[in-house]
Amino acid sequence: MSSKQSQPMQKRSSGFSAHKPALPELLTNPPLRKGMHPIQVVRGMRDLLPSDQPYWKQMEDMAERMAMDYGYARIDTPLIEDYSLFIRGVGKVTDIVEKEMFHWETPGGEHVGLRPESTASVARAYVQHGMLNLPQPVKLWNIGPMFRYDRPQAGRFRQFYQASFECIGEADPIVDAQLIIVSWNLLKGLGLDPTVKVNSLGNPESRLNYKNALVSYFRGKRSQLSEEDKKRLVKNPLRLLDSKEPNMQELKAEAPQMVDWLDEESKAHFMRVLEYLDEVGVPYQLDPYLVRGLDYYTKTVFEWFANSNDQELAQSALGGGGRYDLLIELLGGRPTPGAGFSLGLDRIASRLKELNPTPPAKDEVDIFLAQLGEMGRKKALGLFEEFRTAGLLVGEAFAKSSLKAQMEIANRRKAKWTIVIGQKEVLDGTAIVRDMDSGTQEIIDAKKAVHEMKKKLGLHTQ
Ligand code: AMP
Repeated sequence: MSSKQSQPMQKRSSGFSAHKPALPELLTNPPLRKGMHPIQVVRGMRDLLPSDQPYWKQMEDMAERMAMDYGYARIDTPLIEDYSLFIRGVGKVTDIVEKEMFHWETPGGEHVGLRPESTASVARAYVQHGMLNLPQPVKLWNIGPMFRYDRPQAGRFRQFYQASFECIGEADPIVDAQLIIVSWNLLKGLGLDPTVKVNSLGNPESRLNYKNALVSYFRGKRSQLSEEDKKRLVKNPLRLLDSKEPNMQELKAEAPQMVDWLDEESKAHFMRVLEYLDEVGVPYQLDPYLVRGLDYYTKTVFEWFANSNDQELAQSALGGGGRYDLLIELLGGRPTPGAGFSLGLDRIASRLKELNPTPPAKDEVDIFLAQLGEMGRKKALGLFEEFRTAGLLVGEAFAKSSLKAQMEIANRRKAKWTIVIGQKEVLDGTAIVRDMDSGTQEIIDAKKAVHEMKKKLGLHTQ
């Protein structure tokens, strides 16, 4: 590295390692030079910190509960897939595949990519494992990270998380409606009050006719289109409808609408979906310009939005889905209908945080084990294992020696009882049990500590 290059680095991080004690050689290979700046997370990626975890646990639990209630089995597919899966499945001229994929050639010459979404992977697994031979429909769900090399901004990351539900092997519109109901219940179960926008893209033929009508409409407005939208007009005209250009709202208002181009069967299918939603009372909005960004959708499409004070959040989708009757065939399987949805957990987590900025602490315990002196500490270490093995919720702060500091931790962790073991108790074979509410104390036989505490907690003892 030239001295020119290294200077700004030194300036930026001056003082970082100045007061650090020398690190063992193992940790400094390559050597940590004075002036090196700490390594940061890669752009567009982020850490989900312990303070984020309660929200994530809430979302995972709710997704799992919905999967149980509606009979979806979990499937986990790899994060890396053959690149051609996404070209065929998601579509070559979609933004996702064209601009946003992390993909590379392996040393063995395979062209692979990080999954930008999971529907194509689940459909691949359905075909590969012969799930066509199982009773249909096959209902699968998954949760995990997706990767898109998009420009990072609020609510948009390069690694983000989705919970997805797919129902493969059934063409009936009740499936589309029930998927909307499942996603609605999932979001409602988390305390959100979202709105769903729905539309139908029809069959490939009506979609093509509509596309042509759209192209001829926008050709007439070509001079008013941005450079990006001019490209869309040629490559993927449906995507013009979710262009974020300021004048697009106005241009769209006069544009042809898909409903007027729907084939009879798709129209009837869509009407049935809406009737089912009415039956259950799902508050939906018809959006004739909702197209979704992926090629594989046919007929029903939908997208969820938050009702939020945060404008950024209110405008960005929490998730979406739709029917994809051609996908399985595109991937080399027998023609098989399917439908599904994906919810964006990062954006839902932001909404949950907005609603409940201080999630309940998850480190509460029933019993806290305090110790005094080296003998007490040793005894408490063993006792902790006994309690833990017996399935009791127990806390400790073995590295602390002051009883006052340990009591403070016991209080913070809302312990109902604190057990104190000092030198005298070790020699007597006893333990002091302090009721944290009343402050009263009693002495128990240390050998029977687990049994005694189970009794106090009203748990079944043998
Ligand atoms: P999509 O199928 O592309 O509409 O994605 C479904 C949901 O995933 C979206 O509604 C978002 O909530 C979420 N999502 C998509 N891309 C990103 C991203 N780059 N960062 C965070 N969340 C995302």
